[in-house]
Amino acid sequence: MAASALLLSTATCLAQTPASPQPAQPPPPAIPSPAAPPRQVPAFYRNLILLDPAHGGPDTGAQLPDNVLEKDVVLGFAQRLRPALAAQGFTVISTRDSDPAATLTTDQRAGTANHLHPLACILLHATATGTGIHIASSSLTPLGDGISPSRALPWATAQAQIVPMSLRLANEIGLALSNAQLPVVLLRASAPPIDNLICPAVTVELAPLVPSSGDPSPVTDLAYQQRMIEAITTALASFRTHNTPAPSAAPPAPPPPAPKPTPVPAANPGAAK
Ligand SMILES: [Zn+2]
Repeated sequence: MAASALLLSTATCLAQTPASPQPAQPPPPAIPSPAAPPRQVPAFYRNLILLDPAHGGPDTGAQLPDNVLEKDVVLGFAQRLRPALAAQGFTVISTRDSDPAATLTTDQRAGTANHLHPLACILLHATATGTGIHIASSSLTPLGDGISPSRALPWATAQAQIVPMSLRLANEIGLALSNAQLPVVLLRASAPPIDNLICPAVTVELAPLVPSSGDPSPVTDLAYQQRMIEAITTALASFRTHNTPAPSAAPPAPPPPAPKPTPVPAANPGAAK
């Protein structure tokens, strides 16, 4: 499918970026050889994954078919993804485990992520249009391959020095989804708060699965979700293997000012895990 048509399908959330989304290059064979030496990368916590189910509270996100709200779809997906990652030895922290009374700001979400130094930050969105999974990396121009441990980073463009790793993360996830026979779109789009993050970060937008023949599967289809979850889990385990932090590397300095996340009481405490 043409990249231009696929980009149109991501209008709901990924088009919030002030920078125009750019068509992704065809997925390159970016997976390093297992025989390659570990890269010298900052000391991310290699078994820690940060999930960010977007929206929540008054911000419902997109209205999906059957009166389903995007904020609920991504929360449920995160709650199903968590145990799959835990089974691979990951510790998983989510920016929200319920529907909060007040919407988390993007600065609060980034602040949570940047204090944790996770191996990967997965920002979850969902849409009713397009097919498969849209994986967006920051559209910031890469400044290098990894960040200087002692250098403070500007908040608005903190992700710039992580972009090369984020692109490798996007390729890992894209490859795993392709191997699972799921359609993938790789693109560059700075949907907030990705540019503020100092972890390898991608936006994963779930779209319906529309086969060339037969009935489409909505994003709420649990069997379809399970295929995506298994592929994402496989990709993150591979990313961990291929991006082993250097033992002597210090954690990167968080970008100032780093807003402290404000605990938000859940509107529905019974739904919290
Ligand atoms: Zn969204």
